[in-house]
Amino acid sequence: MAEFDVVVLGGGSGGYACALRSAQLGLSVVLIEKDKLGGTCLHRGCIPTKALLHAGEVADSAKHASEFGVNATFTSMDMTAVNTYKDGVVSKLHKGLQGLVKSRNITYVEGVGRLVSPNTVEVNGEQYTGKSVVLATGSYPRTLPGLDIDGRQIVTSEEAMRFDFVPKSVIVLGGGVIGCEFASVWSSFGSEVTIIEGLPRLVALEDESSSKQLERAFRKRGIKFETGIKFASATKDANGVTVTLENGATFTAEVLLVAVGRGPVTSGIGYEEQGLTMDRGYLIVDDKCRTNVPGVFAVGDIIPTLQLAHVGFAEGIMVAEEIAGLHPRAINYDGVPKVTYSEPEVASVGLTTAQAKERGHDVVELSYDLAGNGKANILKTAGSVKLVAERNGPILGIHMVGSRVGELLAETQLIFNWEATASDVAQHIHAHPTLSEAVGEAHLALAGKPLHAHG
Ligand SMILES: Cc1cc2nc3c(=O)[nH]c(=O)nc-3n(C[C@H](O)[C@H](O)[C@H](O)COP(=O)(O)OP(=O)(O)OC[C@H]3O[C@@H](n4cnc5c(N)ncnc54)[C@H](O)[C@@H]3O)c2cc1C
Repeated sequence: MAEFDVVVLGGGSGGYACALRSAQLGLSVVLIEKDKLGGTCLHRGCIPTKALLHAGEVADSAKHASEFGVNATFTSMDMTAVNTYKDGVVSKLHKGLQGLVKSRNITYVEGVGRLVSPNTVEVNGEQYTGKSVVLATGSYPRTLPGLDIDGRQIVTSEEAMRFDFVPKSVIVLGGGVIGCEFASVWSSFGSEVTIIEGLPRLVALEDESSSKQLERAFRKRGIKFETGIKFASATKDANGVTVTLENGATFTAEVLLVAVGRGPVTSGIGYEEQGLTMDRGYLIVDDKCRTNVPGVFAVGDIIPTLQLAHVGFAEGIMVAEEIAGLHPRAINYDGVPKVTYSEPEVASVGLTTAQAKERGHDVVELSYDLAGNGKANILKTAGSVKLVAERNGPILGIHMVGSRVGELLAETQLIFNWEATASDVAQHIHAHPTLSEAVGEAHLALAGKPLHAHG
């Protein structure tokens, strides 16, 4: 039996961040992974999808080149080359991560782990015991009853990102982040896309104004969508898949992407047997990611916090610091930046208007239209920066739509997390011409001294 300070089960964003920080703090660490170091984000999530989205952006640039006086034509996508580019990015980052883990003297074990006692994980017949155990086994794509994922006609994001062809038409079941990102990719690649979303709007976790702007932009791009109507059934034949909704409407396409959320990987690996408290498959933890069993922590997609790589990183780091006795601050989940990397992007931090009102804030709002921003005009993008604030108080939420607005979170998440007021931000100079000026202008306007804003 090998003994360590920390045993980490799962080498995705949450697990490897915890292992790296633990090792940095002088703790002995074993990291156990059954597949590839880097997990969903690196191999099946964030990185490959953003590479596809970038390929889509290049395709769109070619299609619209003449609007900028450039003679270029878009003929078609070469999916073999797209996949070579995408896989090249993944493989380079994978090698870098493997090197990093090795350089920090982390013991890396390949194989399926199982929690056999509160402080022991068994892999390939070997037992690894830790003073602390961190569970980080991640998530899998969910499907709906009656939908058999066949990997060709009915697929999840896992198969979709490996396609070596551009489908003529696609139905995307689910208008959340993953669904909207794939809809955007395929539309750029030339597919006809229809999104089906049971909730009343696309990206329903975002501020209502952001959903409206995304819907407007998608409509303009020819991406169709049905919202507020639930899926009933799907049938397939040689021509494609036909989806029927509860109101009887039918849609047929070559491919159906099922993007209805992700479930936690927590069953069959000893968690129930060791008495860990769960709810609908998620491990229940306190604000320091401690489970009900002393010495056992859980981070990332297996706990019911936002399923994002940077949330996993933050939880992994916090747990390592807690184990090392540094007493880190608990995470404020309202302060987590969120991006849907579609064209246009949707980015936010903090509370929506509805959430701020529900929590009893005296809310003031201000929306700055990107039409007044020089760089947005140069890029020919539409959208806005919307501020939600406490009257005469701090900024409570920032919601942005437009090309590249995800990059503006670098500043806006500091504004939110440092509880800045509009006047605090208004005194800072933003470089001209940049999209970040829209953030500055919004705060100037809310502070009562609008420059390029009306009213
Ligand atoms: C299509 C898609 C796009 C995404 N895009 C983004 C994005 O742009 N930005 C963002 O922040 N997030 C994005 N995400 C979400 C992000 O990928 C996840 O939130 C993140 O990967 C969760 O990290 P994790 O460590 O909890 O789990 P995972 O990354 O899933 O890692 C868990 C690891 O545990 C391993 N494992 C499981 N069981 C065992 C076992 N018994 N023994 C050994 N190993 C085991 C798995 O093989 C896996 O490697 C995306 C997800 C998807 C699917």
